[in-house]
Amino acid sequence: MRARVFDALNQFDRPASAYDIADAVSKAEGRRVAANSVYRILDLFVGKNLVQRVESANAYIANAHPDCRHDCIFLVCDGCGQTTHLDNDRITGTVRQAAIDAGFEPVRPVIEVRGRCTACVAAG
Ligand SMILES: [Zn+2]
Ligand SMILES: [Zn+2]
Repeated sequence: MRARVFDALNQFDRPASAYDIADAVSKAEGRRVAANSVYRILDLFVGKNLVQRVESANAYIANAHPDCRHDCIFLVCDGCGQTTHLDNDRITGTVRQAAIDAGFEPVRPVIEVRGRCTACVAAG
């Protein structure tokens, strides 16, 4: 089941919700798979750093660098949903430090930029 969820996620070219993945797995399996069980598996993958959550899209994406744990900045296209990521430890470090300075213990800064991707800008 875990492998099927991971395969299904990888088949999407943009972040997929637990419901999208449950539908894809259900079709492949020929039986109804509940979104709840997909959620549990996705959480497990997030914990193992194999998958990342795109908060503003309420969706998941395969981690582009599973061997490296750091804070990604996601660029989410409002036109086509394509999501890419930037790694800039200086920016995320500044956000973490600002939280610490405010007496807060940060676990994970969430930085996402909504807008339009290169292809959507080119298409007008
Ligand atoms: Zn990254
Ligand atoms: Zn786009």
